[in-house]
Amino acid sequence: MNKRIIIAIDGYSACGKSTLAQQLAKYLHYIYIDSGAIYRAVTLYFLQNAVSYHTIGAVSDALQHISVEFRANENTGNADTWLNGKNVEKRIREIDIAEKVSEIAAIPEVRVFVEKCQRNMSRHKGIVMDGRDIGTVVFPQAELKLFMTADMDTRVQRRYTEMKLKKENVSLEEVRRNIEERDYLDTHRTMSPLRQAADAIVIDNTHLTKEEQLDYALDLAKKVIASPLIRQMPDDTHSKKD
Ligand code: C5P
Repeated sequence: MNKRIIIAIDGYSACGKSTLAQQLAKYLHYIYIDSGAIYRAVTLYFLQNAVSYHTIGAVSDALQHISVEFRANENTGNADTWLNGKNVEKRIREIDIAEKVSEIAAIPEVRVFVEKCQRNMSRHKGIVMDGRDIGTVVFPQAELKLFMTADMDTRVQRRYTEMKLKKENVSLEEVRRNIEERDYLDTHRTMSPLRQAADAIVIDNTHLTKEEQLDYALDLAKKVIASPLIRQMPDDTHSKKD
């Protein structure tokens, strides 16, 4: 049996983390978990239900009514995000959600809730998860940690093009403001701020194509999997906190 590992991918907003994570998961036949999508789904619920998220009681009550899952989409070959039985994949990528998500992701009760979802979704190894705190907090034991970065203009242009293709009515300036603001909030929050794990390998993809980026990361993953230092647990599971 092939050894199966956990691959943690962290980094700033719009650095191509989910593209690389999806590619790696497909190639290795691993499960891909988009942790940002869970924070986005929680944000959508809060906005739709006018939850007064500055009040701890209101946040805790609301979280009890939220269920997020990923379900395969046969048309795209990827997994879609479902919130309380409804497909919200397209909706959670819109700009109003991007504008609120980092504020809501900084609320400790929300982080505890999402971490629990993340652990429930990853009972077995063979996982690629991307986010902001995966290598530092969620899976500090991940066998391969990648930290992605790219220069700001490249990130803004890529995200703008992506949103335009989805017919989002958004300006280049709005996209830039949103990315800068999320980077700031994500690196400055008190609980599990975005940090590069000490043992993470940095990938700056400013001048890399998607294929070059995949080749590089896949090579790293194959080396880790082949390493005699990585042993497979008998039941293929890993430790969980909850
Ligand atoms: O990855 P994505 O851009 O979809 O994430 C949306 C937001 O969710 C981030 O800007 C961040 O505020 C939050 N997030 C987080 N921790 C994670 C993943 C995402 O705080 N592990």
